Amino acid sequence: MYDVVVVGGGPAGAIAAEDLARAGHRVALLDKAGKIKPCGGAIPPRLIRDFAIPDDQIVARITTARMVSPTGRSVDIPIENGFVGMVDRGPFDEYLRTRAVAAGAVRVTGQFLRIERGDTTAVAYRCKESGAEKHLPTRLIVGADGARSRVARGEVPGGDTIPYVIAYHEIIAAPAGRGAGAAPGASPPDPEDISGKMKGRAAYDPARCDVIYDGSVSPDFYGWVFPHGGQASVGMGTGVDGVDLKAATARLRDAAGLADCETIRREGAPIPLKPLDRWDNGRDLVLAGDAAGVVAPSSGEGIYYAMAGGRAAATAAQAVLASGRATDLALARKLFMKEHKTVFRVLRSMQDAYYRSDERRERFVSLCHDRDVQRLTFEAYMNKALVRARPMAHLKIGVKNVAHLLRLVPETYA
Ligand SMILES: Cc1cc2nc3c(=O)[nH]c(=O)nc-3n(C[C@H](O)[C@H](O)[C@H](O)COP(=O)(O)OP(=O)(O)OC[C@H]3O[C@@H](n4cnc5c(N)ncnc54)[C@H](O)[C@@H]3O)c2cc1C
Repeated sequence: MYDVVVVGGGPAGAIAAEDLARAGHRVALLDKAGKIKPCGGAIPPRLIRDFAIPDDQIVARITTARMVSPTGRSVDIPIENGFVGMVDRGPFDEYLRTRAVAAGAVRVTGQFLRIERGDTTAVAYRCKESGAEKHLPTRLIVGADGARSRVARGEVPGGDTIPYVIAYHEIIAAPAGRGAGAAPGASPPDPEDISGKMKGRAAYDPARCDVIYDGSVSPDFYGWVFPHGGQASVGMGTGVDGVDLKAATARLRDAAGLADCETIRREGAPIPLKPLDRWDNGRDLVLAGDAAGVVAPSSGEGIYYAMAGGRAAATAAQAVLASGRATDLALARKLFMKEHKTVFRVLRSMQDAYYRSDERRERFVSLCHDRDVQRLTFEAYMNKALVRARPMAHLKIGVKNVAHLLRLVPETYA
């Protein structure tokens, strides 16, 4: 009999299993294995700190973020006091699962089938090695089986109707040296130059992430070029039916001067858009990560929030094991939202306001010229906190925001 069976060994499940095992509980970590999670792999310093990620997992350190507008204007935002880390999800997820096992979790490889409840509760799964159906008897279950979670579907209200965008990317071999698409020795494009739509995009930099806000790449989300050392992730997301993801990514690669790079993998997956109102079933199960719909609006950032959600689920499970009260499962969402609700709310309004047309996207990139906007948004990304110390900066940003939304200033006014 396990205390907890964790279904899904991605970042959410691996951290939940590790925390529970470290606290001395009997834990099984069930994962179907065999597939690398499609993901851009960008992680903030807060994640590296909170979850003690070693240097050798970071395949690239990003020191600049370039925001590109529909007309090709771009703003380079320097990342102050640190860097954005890039991880490759194959080795990264395996590292996290291995850490959970080192802490005492039992690793089980197979496909989750269903939860059976009789005298005891058990997780039924199809064993990968033998193909046989097997059972893991347990007191509690953490559902961390990712977007379109099979566990959530059957157990938690709304678990089968979470809205998604579909994100697609291509892993390519990174161009050798800097400046793919530009002549060798050519000076880098002027980020302020708005004379040509594609200008400013055609230079690859292994220490810079490009975020492309352009309706021809994504009508409702964004495109990206994320360096990963010897490789790069180039992709886009959209919730609009009928968009040809591969054609949009081909346009993006072309504009970024990356069309001729070798394509290593093509893959896509859903990104949930809205956290569920409830993460537990009030009885014996709590969700974490994508399974609970938890990804930041605007950015689609999910790795940190999956790990924070896994940790919150583990805390809630420990509380239930100690108190015997199933209502303590609700602690997971409560703890998580206490810390992240405001950032989610701000990011949601930003997405609603600026991702709806090229005119709005143009205004958004203009807003990104402002040093206070840069500092505040990056502080929110890097450390997951909104800085309260500078009320005048907030006020100024608020005024500029309203001026852009009411079209009181030209699109390109910074
Ligand atoms: C194209 C793309 C790019 C992205 N880029 C970024 C980015 O740059 N930065 C960022 O922070 N986030 C990014 N995200 C989001 C991020 O990948 C997810 O939010 C994150 O992986 C969620 O972690 P998780 O542990 O909840 O789920 P997952 O990582 O999906 O893990 C779920 C685990 O459950 C297992 N599983 C699933 N079903 C079963 C089953 N039936 N039985 C047993 N095991 C099962 C899977 O094998 C997997 O290991 C991106 C997503 C996509 C699709």
